[in-house]
Amino acid sequence: MSTTQKVLDGIADLKDWHEAFYQDLHQNPELSFQETRTAGLIADRLRALGYEVHEGIGPTGLVGILRNGDGTTVLARADMDALPVEELTDLPYRSKHTTSDATGAQVHVMHACGHDMHVTCLLATAELLANNKDAWSGTFIPLFQPAEEVGTGAKSMIDGGLADIIPTPDVALGQHLVPLPYDVVASRPGPAMSAADSIRVTLHGRGTHGSMPHGGIDPITLGGAIVQRLNGIVSRELRPGTFAVVTVGSFQAGSKSNIIPADAVLLLNIRAYSERVRAKLKESIERIIIAECEASDTPQPPDFEYYDQFPLTDNTEAVYDHVSAAFAEHFGDKSTLMTPSTGSEDFSDIPVALGAPFLFWNFGGTDPDVYATAAAAGRLAQDIPSNHSGYFAPVMGPAIDNGTKAMVVAVMSYLGN
Ligand SMILES: [Zn+2]
Ligand SMILES: [Zn+2]
Repeated sequence: MSTTQKVLDGIADLKDWHEAFYQDLHQNPELSFQETRTAGLIADRLRALGYEVHEGIGPTGLVGILRNGDGTTVLARADMDALPVEELTDLPYRSKHTTSDATGAQVHVMHACGHDMHVTCLLATAELLANNKDAWSGTFIPLFQPAEEVGTGAKSMIDGGLADIIPTPDVALGQHLVPLPYDVVASRPGPAMSAADSIRVTLHGRGTHGSMPHGGIDPITLGGAIVQRLNGIVSRELRPGTFAVVTVGSFQAGSKSNIIPADAVLLLNIRAYSERVRAKLKESIERIIIAECEASDTPQPPDFEYYDQFPLTDNTEAVYDHVSAAFAEHFGDKSTLMTPSTGSEDFSDIPVALGAPFLFWNFGGTDPDVYATAAAAGRLAQDIPSNHSGYFAPVMGPAIDNGTKAMVVAVMSYLGN
């Protein structure tokens, strides 16, 4: 029996606290950079397991360090934050929480992206390694990151001095729960998740009475022309087949039917699979908007503010080769090639800053029969709630087992004796 299998055999004994811990996190979700309760629970658990614990990094992130003789140093990361989404499931442990967001607005909050599952699976891995120190050697660093959903949590831990707190990892690992069947893991070498930017564009017109449009410069007409033209970037300016997304997610202006407002604000979101395409999208967006403002003779040029920026997740080939071989051994044909995601992640900011190679993969949490039925009907998008939906509801026990198994297999592929 491999030492990995010996460690995995311990999962069943942990089932009760796994599920209790997960339900507690699910019922008490915290928004980005507010994860203090979550971080406290994790720190207590890690300390009880014998980990050296460093809290308050970035400022709500934390790491544990377990040194177990000579060998490789492996960092494994889970994100901790929830989303301003109202939970619409009928689960007995659904979130009924509301909270204040960063602007002070009162919002519903829900673990609609499964980060409570990521935390549970990584803590379970930390416990299994602590309970089986004869099965491995090296150093294990479970890292719990704040604020993935706003794209700055990983960077904030780097800025908070992470490199001076932990030994430099030889490899970094991370995973995400997705609506795949709960016995499936999916990974791929190279680019796996897109780079992303949000852009707040403020258009400056000149306000006037709605009955006298000739006296003003209408930012709504201007914004309408801009939205039309932005939709031509992907279809007209990029080589067909090049992956890119340009979305106008919000267009706000005005307050009354008979007033032409002075300003309008557009919120844009872009996705790309290379820095070259990413730069091209930004250049095209700014060129079109500046030119349309000039065409409308606006009194001042538009303002561009970039925020919620995510790096390209570009998995290291050698790490993929190493971990996917271990996945194949333990998951058989349920270890699959991940479809490149149009979603984005800030995980890679940590290994890139630390100079470590890395792999980020997906694991499933959906009932395989439900999944197969929806897939056969061509109704996956309609019948399986996705991440960020108020109906997102992984099947708790099997999903925890799947994510824990994937993380243990990946970590043990480097540390196992
Ligand atoms: Zn998310
Ligand atoms: Zn997520």
